[in-house]
Amino acid sequence: MTLSNLTADYRARDAAHHIHPFSDMKSLNAEGSRVIVRGEGSWIYDSDGNRILDGMAGLWCVNIGHGRKEIADAIQRQMAEISYYNTFFKTTHPPAVALAETLARLTPTQFNHVFFVNSGSEANDTVIRMVRHYWATLGKPRKTVIVARWNAYHGSTMGGGSLGGMKPIHSQGGLPIPDIHHIAQPYWFGEGGDMTPDEFGVAAARALETAIDEIGEDRIGAFIAEPIQGAGGVIIPPATYWPEIARILKDREILLVADEVITGFGRTGNWFGSETFGIEADLMPIAKGLSSGYLPIGGVMVSDKVAEVLIGPGGEFNHGFTYSAHPVAAAAALENLRIIEDDRLVERVRDDIGPYLQERWRALGEHPLVGEARMTGLMGALELVPDKPSRKSAFPDTGKVGTIARDFSFRNGLVMRAVRDSLILSPPFTLSHEEADYLVATARKTLDDTLAEVKRLGLK
Ligand SMILES: *Cc1c(COP(=O)(O)O)cnc(C)c1O
Repeated sequence: MTLSNLTADYRARDAAHHIHPFSDMKSLNAEGSRVIVRGEGSWIYDSDGNRILDGMAGLWCVNIGHGRKEIADAIQRQMAEISYYNTFFKTTHPPAVALAETLARLTPTQFNHVFFVNSGSEANDTVIRMVRHYWATLGKPRKTVIVARWNAYHGSTMGGGSLGGMKPIHSQGGLPIPDIHHIAQPYWFGEGGDMTPDEFGVAAARALETAIDEIGEDRIGAFIAEPIQGAGGVIIPPATYWPEIARILKDREILLVADEVITGFGRTGNWFGSETFGIEADLMPIAKGLSSGYLPIGGVMVSDKVAEVLIGPGGEFNHGFTYSAHPVAAAAALENLRIIEDDRLVERVRDDIGPYLQERWRALGEHPLVGEARMTGLMGALELVPDKPSRKSAFPDTGKVGTIARDFSFRNGLVMRAVRDSLILSPPFTLSHEEADYLVATARKTLDDTLAEVKRLGLK
């Protein structure tokens, strides 16, 4: 088969049988999926032989880059020992023990226990059950409400999708579940009005105080937030936001949950986003970068304060998954964490490739189409606007220009993702300086192409 025949064949069979996540299958099938056949380092290769820089590290997860043989070897070694056993029957296994111990060492000091799951969504469903079980055990069964934020992403199961503040998710399947309350997000570029970022950060945090006043502390079990919102569009909160949240929660009987599914394991230039922003959480969902996506695994880190109740007075926690602490996934995660430590990848994001890319990325803010270019660690966004420098103008038909830009980027050889009319970026930590230069040059070409198209369409 020629390459183009091969691609056409994959596309036809994919269209015939495969329902993709978060996709309009009718239009996707008409267009045809891009078939990714190989990955190496920062690059992916499609079935037509195109080489594309993976600016999203898969889906925020392939932090050590594609194709690391050490992980394949670790997986193979564990497969040969024992490929599956459960952790329900008063049983454990060496990879579960070693991974739990390693996580207790690497996470902030208050975390010394982990509950294993297979994804970020499962981690957040576990959080809901844990928070409610915790308060019920303490004789406060009315503390069932969890406060979350609009435009947050916490997964797409019934629980995760409910905690998230994405209206398109809520609009299907009867979400949110009861007792989830959403407040404003700290999105200064989009919602800050005439306030300075610092003023807006305080105001956005005070939405939590208002919610507590309205709902009552006796009803609220937890507040959950991503240190930086990822899927919502890489929303980096103003510097005042997290300190104000800490002030509001001080001396309150409300658990703080930091969803570190994206920000964990180095993405923000520290091991955890909680360290970057000074967050002291009681529970910490993790997934994605835990295994760099090589195999599915996640967890909920449990602080000593919560563990004291769950382990002991809490009795049996009627919750778990067949694949909780899957030995092969745990082995992949352990090897991934070894690579991050031995190759000093967190330090690399903080001191080397992070600052190098940030400087060049922020320079894209000069482009006539860009209203703001922001990046923390290796998480960035470009806000596309019709009337630079105004933050307050927006393109008609939100999302159209973002999608145009995203498609140009792919064609130009760089994966960026569109959120509304912004482009977002989350490359592997192993990105070289040369690859960063390519990335920024390709992003610039993408902006030029998009600007020309926007003009052609009369949108600017
Ligand atoms: C991706 C993500 C999730 C959901 O993880 P899945 O593994 O896709 O279920 C939860 N929280 C955050 C912050 C995420 O980015």
